[in-house]
Amino acid sequence: MAAHPLLDDLRAALGDAAVLTDPDLLAGHERDEADLCDSGTPLAVVRPRDTGEVVAVVRAAARHGVPVVPQGARTGLAGAANAVAGAVVVSTVAMDAVREIDPVGRIAVVQPGVVNAALARAVREHGLWYPPDPGSWESSTIGGNVATNAGGMCCVKYGVTSEYVLGLEVVLASGEVLRTGRRTAKGVAGYDLTRLFVGSEGTLGVITEVTVALRPAPEESLTLVAVFPTVATAGGAVAGIAERGLTPSLLELLDRTHLRAIEAYRPMGLRTDAEALLLAAVDTGARAADDLARLAEVCTAAGADEVYAATDATEAAALLQARRLAHPAMERFAAETFPGGNGGLVIDDVAVPRGRLAELLDGVARIAEACQVPIGVVGHAGDGNMHPNIVVDRADPASLARGRRAFDEIMRLGLELGGTCTGEHGVGLLKRDWLAREIGPVGVRVHQAIKTALDPAGLLNPGKVI
Ligand SMILES: Cc1cc2nc3c(=O)[nH]c(=O)nc-3n(C[C@H](O)[C@H](O)[C@H](O)COP(=O)(O)OP(=O)(O)OC[C@H]3O[C@@H](n4cnc5c(N)ncnc54)[C@H](O)[C@@H]3O)c2cc1C
Repeated sequence: MAAHPLLDDLRAALGDAAVLTDPDLLAGHERDEADLCDSGTPLAVVRPRDTGEVVAVVRAAARHGVPVVPQGARTGLAGAANAVAGAVVVSTVAMDAVREIDPVGRIAVVQPGVVNAALARAVREHGLWYPPDPGSWESSTIGGNVATNAGGMCCVKYGVTSEYVLGLEVVLASGEVLRTGRRTAKGVAGYDLTRLFVGSEGTLGVITEVTVALRPAPEESLTLVAVFPTVATAGGAVAGIAERGLTPSLLELLDRTHLRAIEAYRPMGLRTDAEALLLAAVDTGARAADDLARLAEVCTAAGADEVYAATDATEAAALLQARRLAHPAMERFAAETFPGGNGGLVIDDVAVPRGRLAELLDGVARIAEACQVPIGVVGHAGDGNMHPNIVVDRADPASLARGRRAFDEIMRLGLELGGTCTGEHGVGLLKRDWLAREIGPVGVRVHQAIKTALDPAGLLNPGKVI
């Protein structure tokens, strides 16, 4: 079969080394980390090094009518980075320069391929902090974080990615380069196009530069663990914490399935007999010890069996590490739950108003029973953002169907409770139907109008979000 003529254009623009067509590599770039999502083999993966090369790729693809799928580290959990057959995957991982750190303006300017943790480390040398910290922070890229509006553990106090994106450079479907936003502390000129692109999941343009706001490094934090007899009482404690006006810098929930999975994955003495555990931290400086005591009071009043403070920074770091191991530990648990290592995880992501967290957690337990699937719950409790992890046997269609039903029931419950179908992982392919239900026909029309205005030929990450 003759090679696609687009490949010649791409090689002419980027050089041979940046245009990859090796079948194994193409297969490796087909999908992100989400289960239950379609994908196709791309025509090529390109690794541009600068904005000019992205422009050349987008223009060449448009001339040939070929779709363009932007990709970062492919840690996404909604299928948003999945390739469509015959597309050009634009991987921005080689655009990994931290261009500027300005301690006076408290900003950094970075290329999209910079890994989240690398940015955090680079700014720390200046006594500064980039708070958004998705669990994938050691691998996911700032471009992917911006395109999904990623959250993380610090977000309960410090907000999600969109709070920190001041400005963007974006290559539009036309090949034009758009600059949005500002590098000033304040600025209200024009429509907020920056926010429009944050969370747009590669469907409106390829992000080629990001200007982020930074904060001074936080105060040392104190950490507390509260053990609960049911997940719903832990949910009640979260509502109580908010009601008392407390501002933890971290408030995470792990249920028994997760505690057991983590302990089996890396033994660290977690209370595996507990139904749920809340992990909380405060970083309020001189007030921290008092605030921690107030958090403990609320947890006890809500029904915690045991509340204890980490004795030192090492123990606090170990507890945080346990939380960060939730994903690999559950993957192993899922694999080992079914014969032949066929077990897989459907990772859900739902957010409800904090006051309704207990109802969500109760509801998920009922759904697990009704659908006869194991579901472990973990997540950013302080944000009302939970990840029910549904364990399925990939080799058994009946198990997959039960998992799918449980997934849909959780989505329905989340919306009924006044929540949203995704708190941080995004819509991608996984939640298009649920997005439509959440935003209604007018919302869908407005989304489509924006998409059509910016990408009339529908070539940018087609089939995702809307
Ligand atoms: C272990 C684990 C823990 C996780 N924890 C969290 C968490 O705590 N919070 C959270 O929010 N998410 C979490 N995630 C999900 C995932 O890491 C985030 O969605 C992350 O932001 C994706 O970044 P990425 O670089 O991997 O992007 P990809 O997965 O490669 O892409 C994600 C989306 O961004 C688009 N995109 C990527 N780069 C660009 C670009 N330059 N221009 C335009 N569009 C682009 C893609 O088209 C796609 O739509 C976790 C995932 C894993 C595997």
